[in-house]
Parts: sequence; C-alpha cells; structure tokens
Amino acid sequence: MELNEALAKLNELQMKMYAYRTASSALYLDGVTVAPKETSAGRGVALGILAGEEHKLFSDPEVGKLLDFLKEKNAELDPVIARQVELLSRSYAQLSRIPMDEYVEYAQLTNDAGDAWHKAKETSDFQLFRPYLEKLVAFNIKFAGYYDSTKKPYDALLNEYERGVDMEYLDKFFGEVRSRLVPIIKKIAEQPQIDDSFLNKNYPVDVQRKFSDYLMEVMGLDRNHCTIGETEHPFTLNFNSRDVRITTNYSENSLADSLYSVVHEGGHALYELNVDPAYDYNCLSGGVSMGIHESQSRFYENIIGRSKAFAKAIFPKVKEFFPTQLEGVDADMFYRAINKSQPSLIRTEADELTYSFHVMIRYEIEKQLIGGTLEVKDVPSEWNRLYKEYLGVDVPDDKHGCLQDSHWSGGSFGYFPSYALGSAYGVQMLRKMEDEIDVWGAVEKGDLAPITAWLKEKVHKFGCLKDPADILKNAVGGEFDPKYYAEYLENKFSALYGF
Ligand code: ZN
Repeated sequence: MELNEALAKLNELQMKMYAYRTASSALYLDGVTVAPKETSAGRGVALGILAGEEHKLFSDPEVGKLLDFLKEKNAELDPVIARQVELLSRSYAQLSRIPMDEYVEYAQLTNDAGDAWHKAKETSDFQLFRPYLEKLVAFNIKFAGYYDSTKKPYDALLNEYERGVDMEYLDKFFGEVRSRLVPIIKKIAEQPQIDDSFLNKNYPVDVQRKFSDYLMEVMGLDRNHCTIGETEHPFTLNFNSRDVRITTNYSENSLADSLYSVVHEGGHALYELNVDPAYDYNCLSGGVSMGIHESQSRFYENIIGRSKAFAKAIFPKVKEFFPTQLEGVDADMFYRAINKSQPSLIRTEADELTYSFHVMIRYEIEKQLIGGTLEVKDVPSEWNRLYKEYLGVDVPDDKHGCLQDSHWSGGSFGYFPSYALGSAYGVQMLRKMEDEIDVWGAVEKGDLAPITAWLKEKVHKFGCLKDPADILKNAVGGEFDPKYYAEYLENKFSALYGF
C-alpha cells in the first residue's frame, strides 16, 4: 500500500463514521424534541441498524491493518494525522477486545435498562431497576478489563471519561474539597437564609423563551449555527463545528431553572463551535473529554453566570422581561438569590457550593459497586446513608434518591466525577485568565467576547488534538491543584453569608 492511498482510506473511513453518527444523532434529537409520542419503535429499529453498521465498519480487520501501516509510517505523517491514527488505534484495540455477542447484548441491555429506569423512577420502585443495574455493573466490570486489563476495573472506567484520572487522583481531590467545604456548609446553616422566593413566582413560558433568545445573544451564540430546543433534560448536541444544538426545560414557577440551563448548555455549545473546523468529519472533532467540557459549561454557568458582575450586567434586562415578578428586587438581591446555598436531594438542582457533595456520593457508590464491595441491592441504603452523612438530608424515597439520574441506566459508570472536576478546572482557568485579561471589567459591561476568545485560544480550538491533561496544563500554565476551587468557594460563600 502507498502512503497516499492509506491516507485516502483513513479519510474515507472517518467520513463514513461521521455520517453514521450524524444520522443517529439526528434521529435521537428528533425523538426527544418534536417526534410524536408513540413513534420510538421505528427509530429504535433504524438506530440499531446504524449502530451495527458503524460497529461493522470500524471493527473490520482491514481497519486494523490500515492503522498498523500508518503507525509504521508515523515519522512521515503530519502531526494532526498522526494524532488521528493514535486515537483511532486506541479505540480499535479496545473494540476488537469486546466479543461481538457481548457488544450486541450490552446495546440491548442499555436500551431495556433505560425503559426500566424510567418506570422505576416514576413509581419510585428500585426493585424494578435492580436486575438491570446488576447486569450493567457486571458488564462494566468485564468491559473494564477489555479497556485496560492492567488497571483496577474502576480506574479503567474512569480513564474512559477522563484520560489520566484514577481513584488516587479523585480521592485526593474530593478529600481536599470535603475537608475545606464542610465547615462552610455548617456555618451557612447557622446564618439567616437568603430570600429567593421571587425566583419562584409565575414566569410565563412564552416570555422565558424570549429571555432565552436574549441570553444566547449575551453569550455570543450565533443563531445561524446554534439553535435552542426544549426537552425534559437539557443537553447539547454537536453535529460538527458549524452545527450545534442546545436544549432547555422551562418551568413556569422558576426563573433560574431555564436561565442556568441555557447558560450551562451555551457554554458547552461555545466549546463545540470554537473547535478548529479543520477537525470536522474526523475523530479530532468535538470536545476532548467530559471533564474539560464541564469545565466550560460550568465556567459560564457558575463562575460567570452566578457572579456579581454578571448579575449586575443582566439585571436591568431581566427586569424588563419580568417587571411585575421582580418588583422591589434589585441587582444585589438577585445576585444573592441565585447563589442561595442549602443542602438538598437533587444533584441537578444543587447550588454551586453543595454540588460537589452530590458527585462525591455517586463516586463513593460507584467505587464500591465496581470494586465489588457493595451489592446492587444495598445501593438505596448506602445512598441514603451518604446523603445524611455528607449533606445532612433525609432521602424520602428512591425517586428523590438513587433513581434520580439516568447515567447508570445508560451504562455510564465513572462519568459523574467529571462534573466536579470540571468545576475545579474552571476555577483554575479563571485565575490564569485574570492574570492575562480584565475578566470582570468585561463581564460588568455584559461583554463575554474577550472571555470566550481566551477560552477558544487555550481550550476550545484544540478539539481532541491533545489529551485532556495537556489541555488543562496549557490553559492553567501548570499542574491541577484543587486548592483554587476550595478557596474560590470559601471566599464567595463567606462573603455572601457574611462570616
Ligand atoms: Zn453539562
């Protein structure tokens, strides 16, 4: 084989994979947005075939030969192509270790588990989900060995979401967060609570939709390349760097729910839109990892979106949209309300300070489940015990407890820690950004462009060209240190609550 011929084949392979993924994503998006309720069966058939075809295409032994050939020619390759070969070879090796029958059985299992989880959550009946969760855990322990047999199973799974992250890294991270933030949470409990009742007045959905348009404008999201839809759970989906979709969920009795969903998903979208378009249609496209992705979304949502400067900048406009609901409220009251901290039951509704504790609880449970020291039948009691210990709250039922998140039903174990890591990565990026540009001067003017430009240069544009650890190092100019995150929360919340 000639090198040119091999490069053409590599390109063709990646274009086909892009096409399969685009088709699957479009069907998925249709299903959760505009498709009629009783139409999932037909899409399921098509999605199953597309997944099978994609698997067949990529697991073909000819692909293995092509990648081996290109690896031998590594010295002659452009660095961007060399990176593609590296990433594809890693995925190919993993996939080829999973027997086809197990792969198919697992795809079916996650599909069925999703339905079972929905029903179990609706009726708050863990027993309906339990047999599926048992199988999912067993599969993931087995798959961890296929991913990397030299690692402990949970370390191998963590590495899939955030390359380089393992239990040692997370124990140190969560240990520091816990020891420094527990005293703050305790002190807040002794202070008079912030009044945020005006955020839960009646906020008509049609006005909220217009408000979302305004927020997208503030964030600099180009509506010719990014639209907003409505789904039960907000998410961001990227087809390529010129076509990104976000969704939100409106609740008539909450201003903050959709506001912060839009800003959060908007952060994900900016990342996707700013990846170098040269990586479209190949494996370097899109954000590099969950942790780095969350560092961007949570950066806009919390660090910027819940800052005093941002609250001041947008408040006059917020009041224009909702004059009666916010009568007598000023920017400072608004700032305090959007930062009210109170230990609670639901992760997605948690405030910035207590959020990491929700993640920590899931991490502790996953670590034990995959490590074999906790049985699935004991998940609810362990969950409730940890919520009491870490957050001091009593879990009334499994719907508001271990059944609240969909991640496990989709087979995702090792995903949760990226949420907390992302928050911490974002703070360390902020410190570096503050050294280089006038962050708060810009935010006060409602101008996020210099911030997005900085993130584009340091994080977004690389796509998957570098490993997450290298992107982080590049952005913060050194090693990751959780102390920045702990300090940031200590300072912010002690000022808010006046101690
Ligand atoms: Zn997110």
